[in-house]
Amino acid sequence: MDASSAVENQKIVIAIDGPSGSGKSTTARRVAKELGYLYIDTGAMYRAVALAVLREDRALTNYDVEPIVRDYRLELVITPEGQRTILGREDVTEELRSPKVTQLVSAVSALPVVREVLSKRQREMGRHGGVVMDGRDIGTAVFPDAELKIFLVASLEERARRRLAELGDTSLTLEQMCQQLYERDKYDSERLISPLRRAPDAVEIDTSEMSIEEQTERIVQLARERIAAKSRSVV
Ligand code: C5P
Repeated sequence: MDASSAVENQKIVIAIDGPSGSGKSTTARRVAKELGYLYIDTGAMYRAVALAVLREDRALTNYDVEPIVRDYRLELVITPEGQRTILGREDVTEELRSPKVTQLVSAVSALPVVREVLSKRQREMGRHGGVVMDGRDIGTAVFPDAELKIFLVASLEERARRRLAELGDTSLTLEQMCQQLYERDKYDSERLISPLRRAPDAVEIDTSEMSIEEQTERIVQLARERIAAKSRSVV
């Protein structure tokens, strides 16, 4: 490989963390498209385990959930329209967004065995770089050496408004949605293993008053700077 193709091939890991509704998935998907990277929605993996726990009516203990997280076939399939999640042989992408799954997912993801198995898989998926991964602990626990870490935040009310718009047909009021998000963030931030936290070297972006285009542009610009820096360091 000559020096110029070595430079072009420098692929970095982009970790995007933040609370629910901060714009992570939409922005991450667009950033990945712009850079020709793979987008990985790690929340979907935790949601898939929560769905399996619900279907099998398991107790929320390491012992009861371990067989599910270790033995179930869980696959993320990338299509031009986005990521699909396959559990067993079934495409469960839509069901992962159901209120029941959303309500249970934080408790399932606080279990040590769930974090251990899923973060190991995420590390494998991103080991060659060229990925944009979004979640809660990507920059702190999964890829603490990621070349670019972003922490997205937005006001609670704005995040609740976005979630309601995303869900479309729902009887929830803005106040109820604020309460739901507040509780999930609290659970995710206070758990013992890999809580939702900004890595000290993450760039914090408040998206409350930014459009998706602005957020994407900002992150893509930062990514290009980091890719260039990595390329300089290998020449
Ligand atoms: O991003 P999303 O809302 O789909 O995530 C669902 C839940 O999965 C979060 O509330 C959190 O409990 C868990 N999660 C996590 N670590 C990640 C991604 C998601 O604990 N990296």
